[in-house]
Order: sequence, then structure tokens, then C-alpha cells
Amino acid sequence: MIFGSNNQCYLCHSASDSLLHIFLQCSITKAIWFSSQWNVRNENLSVSNGSELVSWFFNPGFGPNASNQREEFILFTAVLSDKIWKARNNAFHSGTKADPVSLLCQVNEAVGEFLRILVAPTPISDSGRILPYYDESVLIPSPHRVRIWVDATFKAATLMVALVARDSRNNILLLVDISPLRR
Ligand SMILES: [Zn+2]
Repeated sequence: MIFGSNNQCYLCHSASDSLLHIFLQCSITKAIWFSSQWNVRNENLSVSNGSELVSWFFNPGFGPNASNQREEFILFTAVLSDKIWKARNNAFHSGTKADPVSLLCQVNEAVGEFLRILVAPTPISDSGRILPYYDESVLIPSPHRVRIWVDATFKAATLMVALVARDSRNNILLLVDISPLRR
């Protein structure tokens, strides 16, 4: 049940509207997982809540063992989750029908954009200044720098929070999924 919704899944209309269903078990999501470069069949996956789902994203227990492949898998899961969530909300608010082929294209396009940014050389001017296209504070390396991403959503006295902290080498220091909190 998501935010008090007792309805069926807005993507496939054949199961209850729950987080695990939307991000893992929905026929639309399954089609994307399987058609993706990772060829994931998740029918037998032992995941029973949101925290375990996030843990699986970080340790899928198949293929991606090399660190760069693992990073790419994590990126894929983050982008896929974002696109699926937006598709679900578009279906919820506007009745837009979700198309797995189009969603996978959007996911692959967004993952490609992220990967291009990650490998793109830092633009430096003749005077040695980093060009303003990039945020300098993000690029200047500092061993003490910690970057934190937080997202939260709130409705009907229920709060959900997700937090990721990375050090200057991009190692994950903290991964928190708090859901749901009630006042
Ligand atoms: Zn569904």
C-alpha cells in the first residue's frame, strides 16, 4: 500500500499498489529488468521489504562483480527506480499508460548520460581555471569531502526518507532508508 492507496497497481492493474510490487514484481518492471543489459529474472529473488530491495541493488549476487560494472548496475537500479516511480505517478495522476519498451529506452538514455558525465574530461581554460560549466566545489578533490544525497516525501502524516553519503573516493559511507515514519 502506498500512501493510503488501496488500489491496484497503476502500471499493470493486476496486483496491489505496493513498493515491492512496483520496483520488482510488476509485469512492466519485470519486462524492463529482463530486457535490460543485465537480463535479470527476479521471480525467485528473496526480498521482503524496501531495505532488502536497496541491499539487493548494491549486492545483486550475479554478474556485476568488477567494481566498474557494479557501479553501473547501481546507477541502472537508481535510474530505473526513478523512471518507474515517475511512470507510476503519471499513471496515477493522468492515467498515462506505461510502456516498458519506451521506459527501457529512457532508462538507457539517462544511464548513458550519467556515464558520459562521469568519464568526461574536466574543462579547463588556458589560464588553468575550471570552466563554469561545472560546479568547482564538486570537482576540487578534498580527502575530507563527504557528499550527501537526501530525498524525502511526506503525505498523510507518513514520512519516507532515503539518504546516501559518499566520501571523496566515491565509497559509500552510509545508506539509510527510513520508511515509513509516523508522527
Ligand atoms: Zn504492477
